[in-house]
Amino acid sequence: MDRSVDMLDENSNCQTIWNECLKIIQSNISPEHFETWFQPVVPVSLKQQELTIQVPSMFYYEFIENNFWQLLKTAVRHVMGPDGKLAYSVVMGKNVLRLPQSSSEVGSNQPAMPPLPSGSDTEKQGREIVNPFVIPGLKTMNINSQLKPELNFDNFVEGECNRLARAAGFAVAKNPGKTSFNPLFIHSDVGLGKTHLANAIGLETKVNFPDKTVLYVDAETFLQQYIEAAKTQTINDFIHFYQMLDVLIIDDVQFLSKKEKTQEAFFHIFNFFQRENRQMVITCDKSPSTLTGFEQRLLSRFKWGLSADLQIPDKETRVRIIKKKLLNIGVTDIDEEVIDYLAYRIVTNVREIEGALISILAQSSLNRKTITVELAKQMIDKFVQNTIHEISIDYIQKVVCDYFNIPVYQMLSKSRKGEIVQVRHASMYFAKKYTNLSLAQIGARSGDKDHATVLHACRAVENQRATNAKYAADLNNIDKILKNA
Ligand code: ADP
Ligand code: MG
Repeated sequence: MDRSVDMLDENSNCQTIWNECLKIIQSNISPEHFETWFQPVVPVSLKQQELTIQVPSMFYYEFIENNFWQLLKTAVRHVMGPDGKLAYSVVMGKNVLRLPQSSSEVGSNQPAMPPLPSGSDTEKQGREIVNPFVIPGLKTMNINSQLKPELNFDNFVEGECNRLARAAGFAVAKNPGKTSFNPLFIHSDVGLGKTHLANAIGLETKVNFPDKTVLYVDAETFLQQYIEAAKTQTINDFIHFYQMLDVLIIDDVQFLSKKEKTQEAFFHIFNFFQRENRQMVITCDKSPSTLTGFEQRLLSRFKWGLSADLQIPDKETRVRIIKKKLLNIGVTDIDEEVIDYLAYRIVTNVREIEGALISILAQSSLNRKTITVELAKQMIDKFVQNTIHEISIDYIQKVVCDYFNIPVYQMLSKSRKGEIVQVRHASMYFAKKYTNLSLAQIGARSGDKDHATVLHACRAVENQRATNAKYAADLNNIDKILKNA
């Protein structure tokens, strides 16, 4: 086969060439990495032996370059011949940044990210140090990692909401202290999996490197230990203890907010970790940029590595999480309908999904009730705080009409008067947002309209919202009323 690409129709062949590269890449890395890092890549052009691929962000570029440049280069050369080159086009907001692949020659320049340091672990301190995790007097240095075996990667369901954080965590566990994700700073609202993921990173590190000392500590415990050390004048020992670890996972670091002395100690430990290429994983309920009560020098260090957030899982991911939890507790006979209902109702907090499941299971076994949507509904209404209230379309129509001061029957009529049409559109828009009804069902309940009308209405509302500030404010007010329903 003639591999000289000049001769080929470049546009149509850039996809073909990339597909060939992908085949090679796919057979050399884990399916998980392949999916995360290569499926979002789009080949965009092929000019003079240079294939340009588009990656979704700088982070992707760095990760791919850092971890797969050798493989990519090999693949590109194999498919395009020895002169084949690769360039990246990085999407950055509205701009696109063009970057060459950093290592076009084997063993020549460094990759864009610093190469992985090859050094072995520095020697551990020889003298005995008080271990704040053991009862004083029991002088064992055998450090219990404090990790929970069930909070592992297998049980941590992957979704769009956590893909980057999860992949970065996985990379860290493969190469602790030696990637650019140091510290790895994981942040999110409560109940979205920070502790679980951080713990999973620790476990996975122990699997990959049984000899490494990994420690999970929540910041509150860390704080208590510091206070204790201050009392007994053993702060140096406290710091030295932490400096003996290879991987430190510190959970809910926000608890150190305004605790200046403890931050000072943490700062020492942090710097030591950086110097020695030891890994830190930090979780927090805020991003480093919105975190307050920390010294600036510490905040800026939090940004040195990678900060990745966990978002609210979408409904499909919530369904998978529920199924996983059920499997783990050995329940196999719950109706899909109930699972679907739970995932629909409980939105903002995965922990609450778990709580609801347990109360449903308990109720059903106590009272020998079968688990139905009705039972699930009762339990959720009783026990769960942050749910979507199921709002009916009737209620929405009433709120919207009341707000704009128009009787509901007029909104449901065939009237094409501007103000009435506007109210009709708004109520369709909110019905789509807050109910589970299909567009066709919403149309049917809005004065016998079809689904295309509803779709058009929703778009019209979006457009107007973007251009008309008064209207946008009205919609916000209605939103508030509906949310408090
Ligand atoms: P956070 O530390 O952010 O408050 P947790 O890690 O304690 O949240 O998570 C709350 C609960 O939700 C835990 O039981 C955890 O196992 C579960 N959970 C969160 N995200 C996931 C996920 N992606 N897959 C499986 N379980 C999850
Ligand atoms: Mg937590």
